[in-house]
Amino acid sequence: MTAYRLVAWGEAPRFEDVPVPRPGPGDVLLRMAAVGLCHTDLHFLAAGPGTFPYELPFTLGHENVGRVEDLGAGVDDLAAGEAVAVAGVHSCGRCTTCLRGFDNYCPQGWRGRGYGDDGGLAEFLVVPRREVVPLGPLDPCRAAPLTDAGATSYHVVRKVLPKLVPGSTCVVIGVGGLGGYAVQHLRLLTPARVVAVDVDEGRRETAKALGAHEALPSDAGTAARVRELTDGAGAEAVLDFVGTDATARTALASARAVGAVALVGAGGGTAPVRWGGVPLECDVFVPMGATIADLHEVVALARAGALRMDVEVFPFGRAGEAYERFRAGEVRTRAVVAVDA
Ligand SMILES: [Zn+2]
Ligand SMILES: [Zn+2]
Repeated sequence: MTAYRLVAWGEAPRFEDVPVPRPGPGDVLLRMAAVGLCHTDLHFLAAGPGTFPYELPFTLGHENVGRVEDLGAGVDDLAAGEAVAVAGVHSCGRCTTCLRGFDNYCPQGWRGRGYGDDGGLAEFLVVPRREVVPLGPLDPCRAAPLTDAGATSYHVVRKVLPKLVPGSTCVVIGVGGLGGYAVQHLRLLTPARVVAVDVDEGRRETAKALGAHEALPSDAGTAARVRELTDGAGAEAVLDFVGTDATARTALASARAVGAVALVGAGGGTAPVRWGGVPLECDVFVPMGATIADLHEVVALARAGALRMDVEVFPFGRAGEAYERFRAGEVRTRAVVAVDA
């Protein structure tokens, strides 16, 4: 089969011919339909040797949707041709982290499909049954970004739900891919007022169309404006999907006492955690990815027609161009490769 693979660090990925994988016991063989491209992929493409702990080559693609082609021994609850979404993070299902419901932090999840192991930019992919979620009639291309962008933002929103009581405010910094989903999840799950913050006016407009009550430019005055909007108190929750020095500092300065700040974006920024630097009894946490249960819930929202899922679709043969345009900032929504096109 044809697969789009990272073959050498620092070199462009290329199409290669590789064997079709076979499903073991408990696995499902998928005929791939759609793969969402993610900023993490761009980090792989730009990385030199030694940056990531992965051996090459591997097939790219971790936002995967496929159709059931074959079932491994012991799997009896999926129909041939059924479309399924694949969890973005691989997990063992047996360790205490998985058993406590945090399979996105499984110690075995440091490598998985599309990051160290073969991912979905190929004609076929093998996945454990436990890690796939039936999509029903959802369009595979529009559903692919739910597996990471949609579910990761959902995981963060779920975590801050207890803070977002009636009358509360949630600030979302960076309302591109993940943040745009976060705005939608907040409106669907909470009574909070949602304040979108972004440097880009177009993304601020989109955030308002997605349900944000307010949209503010991202600059040195953002935190002061959040305080004005909240009678000086600050926001109950601040979700930073950018993660630079500037946004992390804005996040801490925008939160209120007993609030919560999530540093989601892997921008490598820092902010001082000290007396006077963090609102009193404010939770600060660094989440990553989503659980399989999160993906089930996000797919349920999408199947109910509650989510807007904008994508730009590229055929499989133009995967390289899709990454190129994504990296150049030319894709306004989510870039998705239709593997079966
Ligand atoms: Zn990703
Ligand atoms: Zn585990």
